[in-house]
Amino acid sequence: MKETIRQTILSLGADVCGFAAADCFIGAPEGFAPSDVWKACKTVIALGIALPKGLLEAPGDLIYGWFNSQSAAMADRLTLQAARAIEAAYPAKAMPIPCDAPYEAWDAATQTGKGILSMRHAAIACGLGQPGKSGLLLNPRYGNRLTIGVLLTDMPLPSDEPCESICIPGCHLCVASCPAHAIQPDGTVRQQLCRPNTFGQNTKGFATVKCNRCRTVCPVRYGKQSAE
Ligand code: SF4
Ligand code: SF4
Repeated sequence: MKETIRQTILSLGADVCGFAAADCFIGAPEGFAPSDVWKACKTVIALGIALPKGLLEAPGDLIYGWFNSQSAAMADRLTLQAARAIEAAYPAKAMPIPCDAPYEAWDAATQTGKGILSMRHAAIACGLGQPGKSGLLLNPRYGNRLTIGVLLTDMPLPSDEPCESICIPGCHLCVASCPAHAIQPDGTVRQQLCRPNTFGQNTKGFATVKCNRCRTVCPVRYGKQSAE
């Protein structure tokens, strides 16, 4: 059953898909575990769509920013479609979770937002990657280019194996290249330092992403083989 669901989700357009039993999230911050969102949740399903490699070489602030936001919208579309497909095929319920915005948890003092669920933690639990020192998810095939979407289901399904880590021992390029010194030694990013450096608007009022250096300097940004 799990493999059938995986194939369905891949056929919808996801590049990767993985599964984790909801009890893998015991120890998640209070209010942010899948069972906090939905008591009936038995399994978390994470999917990923890869940004094109060329987008990391786009000039200026507009092109990358626009399509990065579009990939979040695409992940949301896929999780909505996947939830509908699961409910059509099985006597089960499925709940898509917003990939990025909207969310409730916002600390204005530190400019820190928290999604309804952490996409990165879900992706790690579902075997889609491991965090690099940048805090970005690293996947052996797609590097740091995955946008993650998550859905919950009340179907009990077995967890996938953890993914290998491809962050390069001894490398600190992402940390050293961050112009805002936002990447902390524990791999967290201080959003109050990153946000003002990163998000803006051009003169016409279009949203811009001025910095993605932690992504573009990474030797494994295109995947494990790109660094070999
Ligand atoms: S986006 Fe830029 S400012 Fe933010 S953590 Fe990455 S390198 Fe630092
Ligand atoms: S730049 Fe180096 S240290 Fe940072 S995530 Fe990539 S491989 Fe790891």
